[in-house]
Amino acid sequence: MDLRNCTKCGRVFSYNGIPICARCSNNDEEEFKRVKDYLYDNPGATVMEVSQETDVTEKQILRYLREGRIEIRDDSNLFLDCERCGKPIKSGRFCDVCVIEMQREFGAVLKKDKKPPEKTIAKSGSEKMYIADIRKKLK
Ligand SMILES: [Zn+2]
Ligand SMILES: [Zn+2]
Repeated sequence: MDLRNCTKCGRVFSYNGIPICARCSNNDEEEFKRVKDYLYDNPGATVMEVSQETDVTEKQILRYLREGRIEIRDDSNLFLDCERCGKPIKSGRFCDVCVIEMQREFGAVLKKDKKPPEKTIAKSGSEKMYIADIRKKLK
């Protein structure tokens, strides 16, 4: 039996793949449910209010936000930073703008792979134009 200390409460428990004991993992689920229920009833609540009302630490609520498991709708609740541009966001890892941009970039890469640009087979004059076009896009 693999005995370890729970990273949350420090008690010894038999390790089964997760670093917290069964009691703590149950608590975690319960706390998440409390936070979710509270936000359902009080969609405009701040993280501080949620924390006080549910007895769940702010740090943990922020973790739920980061994981995208909950969303706090109040505009003043901007605790997370977009991992791409650093803009304050409400949930997840990236802001809406970056999500759209990344999707576009990804789509552009896919398109490039699928069909070679027609202009490469054109005469040298228009090929220069094509390169200029690429430069413009890269800016
Ligand atoms: Zn524990
Ligand atoms: Zn961003």
